[in-house]
Amino acid sequence: MRDYFTGMEEQPFRATQVMKWVYHQGVTDFADMTNLSKALRDRLAGNAYSNLPTILSEKVSTDGTRKWLLQVDGDNAIETVFIPEPGRGTLCISSQVGCALNCVFCATGKQGYNRNLSVAEIIGQVWLANKQLGYFDSRKRIITNIVLMGMGEPLLNFDNVVKAVELITDDLGFGLANKRVTLSTAGIVPAIIKLSQFSRISLAVSLHAANDALRDELVPINRSYPIRELLSACRRYSEATRGELITFEYVLLSGVNDSENDARELAGLLRGFPAKVNLIIFNPFPGTGFSRSSMETTDKFRDILVGSGIITITRKTRGDDIDAACGQLVGRVQARARNRQRQDSATGEQQTA
Ligand code: SAH
Repeated sequence: MRDYFTGMEEQPFRATQVMKWVYHQGVTDFADMTNLSKALRDRLAGNAYSNLPTILSEKVSTDGTRKWLLQVDGDNAIETVFIPEPGRGTLCISSQVGCALNCVFCATGKQGYNRNLSVAEIIGQVWLANKQLGYFDSRKRIITNIVLMGMGEPLLNFDNVVKAVELITDDLGFGLANKRVTLSTAGIVPAIIKLSQFSRISLAVSLHAANDALRDELVPINRSYPIRELLSACRRYSEATRGELITFEYVLLSGVNDSENDARELAGLLRGFPAKVNLIIFNPFPGTGFSRSSMETTDKFRDILVGSGIITITRKTRGDDIDAACGQLVGRVQARARNRQRQDSATGEQQTA
């Protein structure tokens, strides 16, 4: 932005002023940026624009979770979810329209992939959520944590995601600490290594199986980047962040990956690793062939991990009644690359969320 102003033969500090208007005051109309000269405001109005996703709908769950359906272009819409908890508020943002990875238990994966979101479309979700939650009026932080766990695989949209994260963590942007921003990946190994070279945000990895045979089925990207390589990249990431724990997500699918043997295998895999495990309750969606593990099975699974010295929490499911829970986000995807089989299994209901 400084280069932009210098290029216009303006002072570089104009960038700071505009950043503060946009990210601290929530002002996006140049005409209202009153510490800029009238002439500069007019020049900006003629040369630049701010472009926000359009809110198509806002749903509020009985547990306070809010989900926005945001239109990003004529064909495509994405979802963003705010999850309030005592003492913190987490915003779950999307990084792509749809997703190409096709994890078998995920609603987003079922609808195919269309395109990467731009930096503006990613940061725009954060801006809009802050606006809707009243942050720009009160200047009281309501969103304390951001997770890249919405639609899409963030590490397959690397450059735009990294730039958006910089805006989230910069003091002239939203000023969140790196630790409060979590990127969740299905395991794009080269991108994890690249990220470790300059980013200090928290990393979560969707593991879901403790051996390659099963993970190949559940998370097909495992066929390209098997567990051993994935764990070695995670170790590098943890070392780069001076020993921060990597979160391993594990969705419990009844009769698939939730046996006591599976738990022991997972414990063996992660023993001695800088890891914590997030057990996720499976969230069903129309057309899924999977079902939730019982509470007893879930507790038993957790107890085996905890008994092996692994920090484990069971993630509460939130926003279930508005289809805002993990893996239920569908938005609207005009998929170019969707394959026939997936098209057949996707219902009309899924397409319109
Ligand atoms: N592509 C990234 C981020 C999006 S998914 C990733 O794979 O990590 C966020 C989390 O929700 C992942 O751990 C994902 O595996 C999980 N998830 C997907 N579908 C789910 C479902 N139906 N129920 C519960 N969790 C699900």
